[in-house]
Amino acid sequence: MTLSNLSTNLASTVYNRLFLNRCYVCNIRNEGSLCLSCQSLLSVNRNHCQLCSRPTRVSMTLCGECQKKPPSFDRIIAPLRYEGLCRALIQKAKFENQLHLLRPLVAITAQHILNKGIILPNNWCVVPTSRQSLAERGYCQTSFICTQLSQSLSSTPIQRIQLQRTLDVSAQHTRSKQQRQTLSHRHFHIDQPVPEQILLIDDIVTTGSTAEACAKALRLAGAKRVTILALARTAE
Ligand SMILES: [Zn+2]
Ligand SMILES: [Zn+2]
Repeated sequence: MTLSNLSTNLASTVYNRLFLNRCYVCNIRNEGSLCLSCQSLLSVNRNHCQLCSRPTRVSMTLCGECQKKPPSFDRIIAPLRYEGLCRALIQKAKFENQLHLLRPLVAITAQHILNKGIILPNNWCVVPTSRQSLAERGYCQTSFICTQLSQSLSSTPIQRIQLQRTLDVSAQHTRSKQQRQTLSHRHFHIDQPVPEQILLIDDIVTTGSTAEACAKALRLAGAKRVTILALARTAE
């Protein structure tokens, strides 16, 4: 064994001991990144609108918003509700430089896709992080989710499409609800024609205005079906 092999093996053993054999939340020894007890603290988005995945009290076909104005995307898939532990993990990942905390949520999302037998398009793009957030954090969490998901669901090769921000507005969480709802497709653009079926990846869907703006931009570039995949969904 060479010295470089030895150090690589040592590094991976240390990494496994530190991170992979312990629950990220309660730190007990565990095979996965989240133990069953901590997983039970996550709220599954069981009852929701079949189109925008907005959480509802009872199972319903379409929520009032989707009935009033059909969105530009075909469907949002979001297996978790953005509350409690799920919210805490995403917040820490985004704002406290702990990207690894998204791993258990990505694993649950991948499992959800497999359990439900959902066939995803092969062309993937991510909601791009604003330039301001990228400068502050130094990473794009949606790209991280995209890479992790494609590794978990590696049955088909994934082609990445680059969606870009035209107007680099401030991050969604710093804006009022009204400002978010007026987010226009002009905020996003794509330089080339895109395939007919696209999967758009985001971390959370809040008002749905970013999903709508991105879907509009993708449709203008030639997409016929836009499926949104997010880790979690808020109620409004
Ligand atoms: Zn735990
Ligand atoms: Zn809806």
